[in-house]
Amino acid sequence: MRTVDDLRNILARIDGRGYKAYKDLQGAYAYPRLTLFIDHVQGDPFASPSKIRVRVPGAVAKLPPDLFADRGRRVALQDFLIREVHHAIRHVCRGNRGIGKSGLIAIDVGGQEVLERTAMVVTPQWVEARLSLGLPAQGRTILGRQAEAMLCQEVPEIVERALKWEHVDQERARTFVDCVDNQESIRAQLDALGLVAFIADGAILPRISGASDRPLSRERAQPFHAPASLRVSISIPHPVSQDGRLTHSLTGFGVPQGVTLIVGGGYHGKSTVLRALERGVYPHVPEDGREYVVTTERAVKIRAEDGRSIERVDISGFIKNLPYGQETGRFSTDNASGSTSQAASILEAVEVGATTLLLDEDTSATNFMVRDARMQALVHKEHEPITPFVDRVRELYESHGVSTVLVMGGCGDYFDVADTVIAMQDYQPLDVTEEAQRIAREFRTKREIETTSPLSGVTSRIPVRESLDPSRGNREVKIEARSVEAIAFGHEVIDVSGVEQLVDVSQTRAVGFAIHLAAHRFLDGRVNVKAAVRSLAELFDDAGLDGLDPYHQGERHPGNFARPRALEIAAALNRLRTLRIRE
Ligand code: ADP
Ligand code: MG
Repeated sequence: MRTVDDLRNILARIDGRGYKAYKDLQGAYAYPRLTLFIDHVQGDPFASPSKIRVRVPGAVAKLPPDLFADRGRRVALQDFLIREVHHAIRHVCRGNRGIGKSGLIAIDVGGQEVLERTAMVVTPQWVEARLSLGLPAQGRTILGRQAEAMLCQEVPEIVERALKWEHVDQERARTFVDCVDNQESIRAQLDALGLVAFIADGAILPRISGASDRPLSRERAQPFHAPASLRVSISIPHPVSQDGRLTHSLTGFGVPQGVTLIVGGGYHGKSTVLRALERGVYPHVPEDGREYVVTTERAVKIRAEDGRSIERVDISGFIKNLPYGQETGRFSTDNASGSTSQAASILEAVEVGATTLLLDEDTSATNFMVRDARMQALVHKEHEPITPFVDRVRELYESHGVSTVLVMGGCGDYFDVADTVIAMQDYQPLDVTEEAQRIAREFRTKREIETTSPLSGVTSRIPVRESLDPSRGNREVKIEARSVEAIAFGHEVIDVSGVEQLVDVSQTRAVGFAIHLAAHRFLDGRVNVKAAVRSLAELFDDAGLDGLDPYHQGERHPGNFARPRALEIAAALNRLRTLRIRE
């Protein structure tokens, strides 16, 4: 293997030459206490940056084995180390050193959620960070000395600060890993406790702004406190402080299975609770405020998305007798309405195993949610294709085991069907279940229940592999995440802006490649959507995410991926406009 001196010599030799000469750098270099892999060299200073890996032997990093003893702890430690590297880069890296991306060093760091990512790997033998790096140039001319400073000083310095236990803030590392462990432990207990979610007393749910996912400051935020009647206590493996004392069990609001309604005046914090529950399917960093807001991993946010495509979904339980006799038992469209999109999203989520639906009036189609007595009198059922959600929500729970948490400040018809009613008042939840039930008895809604037949069982749909074509131009596979909300897939763009539980662009990228991988590996004309995404999850469990990009080779930098849930992979697949389902 080449040494760091070889690297210096190459850089001295190519200094001042054309940018292409940087290609000579490709390869592995033994440094005194680490190995540098230059896996991909960018074509020009403006192209996507070069990809490198730095690997430190376990005996040098000396990370305590208990911090990566099992899968959950390892993912947490890796995520923590990514944040440390990110921090060290900001401290060490001089930044701009020429044109384009010259001088840049970056790691794929996440936001408030803790996710499994390809940017860091911890094994008993070594720890490896996968970085992007902009090789410096002025015009098209190589800046060899600048490159040397980056590769021979900055990179080792970053590793020194972030990946060696002796220099890491050890207390913070332990707190981080234990905190994620606690969250996963709570999640694992939810089912047995009959809950779909847990919100700890003292949690800070509001964010700084609509554009930032960081917590609102403690001075301005009202901490959440469970209503006494719905307060539960959940044990956790690592002690934390709650209400100023160290404890092995957390108290908080246990959101029960069944139908839960969140009511309350406008601007009293309803949607903020629901958004915390949506994000609660992922662990959060300590100090997020929502680190002990934990939701069952099979909860799905459902919203109206008019304009989306739908392919052969049985939405007849919600929508029947469309104008001109359009079929809804196998409903397809390139341009859904608010209500048909919401119906399809529910059935697609249940198809792949969702057990909890999260809905907010702010993002729902009104005619999908309710039809009141007066409207029933004016527009006769024969002319209204929709069976509103209010008439199916109990059945979803009782016959299909699917719970719902619904924010609904504008319609009391749901009092009849809710098991639990929470009122948000000045950002605090009150248990108003009994009062709502009394009101439901006293003020009859006079509306008629509109279900005529039971909600049919879930359809099993088998995708046609050829309908998932990622090729474009001379590339057999051209997949790219344009943002957290859009995936370029071959000639198509999958709009996942309505898939609100995708939280990170690297997750969105992984979703795009996962669809291709599923098509390539699993879809053989007999495998249905549910089985395909389950196989993907098993593959990720066994082999991680390194193999997602089909152009990835051997041990090289695999690209930046963060793990998505099977539910989001299916959701994106369902929004691909070329998707065809076998007849
Ligand atoms: P609703 O859905 O009831 O209309 P939102 O959840 O959208 O209300 O909240 C309204 C505003 O109040 C938002 O700006 C939100 O950030 C803020 N907010 C929500 N919960 C809290 C809280 N616990 N403490 C302080 N501000 C909050
Ligand atoms: Mg709202």
